[in-house]
Amino acid sequence: MSHATTPVIVIHGGAGVVAKEMTPEKDKAVRAELAKALHAGYDALKAGASSLDAVAKAIVVMEDSPLFNAGKGAVFNHDGRNELDASIMDGATLRAGAIANVHRIRNPILLARAVMEKSPHVMLIDDGAEQFAKSIGMPLVDPKYFYTEERWQQLQQALKEEQEQSVDPAKTPHHGTVGAVALDSKGNLAAGTSTGGMTNKRFGRVGDSPIIGAGTYADVRCAVSATGWGEFYIRATAARDICARVEYRGDTLTKAADDVVLGVIPKLGGDGGVIALDAQGNIAMPFNTDGMYRAWIDRDGKMHIAILAGE
Ligand code: ASP
Repeated sequence: MSHATTPVIVIHGGAGVVAKEMTPEKDKAVRAELAKALHAGYDALKAGASSLDAVAKAIVVMEDSPLFNAGKGAVFNHDGRNELDASIMDGATLRAGAIANVHRIRNPILLARAVMEKSPHVMLIDDGAEQFAKSIGMPLVDPKYFYTEERWQQLQQALKEEQEQSVDPAKTPHHGTVGAVALDSKGNLAAGTSTGGMTNKRFGRVGDSPIIGAGTYADVRCAVSATGWGEFYIRATAARDICARVEYRGDTLTKAADDVVLGVIPKLGGDGGVIALDAQGNIAMPFNTDGMYRAWIDRDGKMHIAILAGE
């Protein structure tokens, strides 16, 4: 008798969607890229790959696209640099890897995975993480690789607003993140998240995305990747809290994810969303912003892509 599980994958391209900025062209381009990322992961799952492989493959496609705030489309910090964060977790073994504040890694998710698989550590940062990359033969790119005109202009705008004091500096707008959760044919879950962080961030700021338990978490029951105002996701230990509610309280995935994203986080003053998946292939994708780039292939093998709330 076969115990094979039907694979499921869910991805997000960030909850920083601003409805009035969504032109038909942008909408079309984002949907096409989400479909590409989704298929990169799903095709691997169908061919028998692990959930970990699928998560990494889907995220690499989004990191290589200038449309998302991760890898090539990363936002700029206050000093005009790109600082990248990422993490990945294997639900079956609770192994995890993370990197923060790297400047020369084309695909941060692959370095996070290498930290998990090729080092005795969970998290490496900054120059040390890049030294580790070099030591395992991962090529470093020129930091200029990450430059995109759109993100540069977003930084100029943020600096201008800050100088004119026309926005509360504590309320830096966030610009997304990418992430994926997957269930493979062996019934194992994995989660991963990759980001450029928040425009105009400073002082070596690190958000939730590379923090295991905050922006990323996976165990045998539940996998979560978050996007949103990272400080609040860290304080709420959001990703782990969702999975802990499923584990300890027996909450359904939907209830657990809704209670954290629509209850705990906004109560603290934060916003954003998550994608979550359980071992039965149930999916939850709550968010409390205008929209969240999201796409999934469910237990029936059906593909869905959505951007704004209510889709
Ligand atoms: N969570 C990310 C961070 O705080 C940003 C985002 O998802 O919009 O770095």
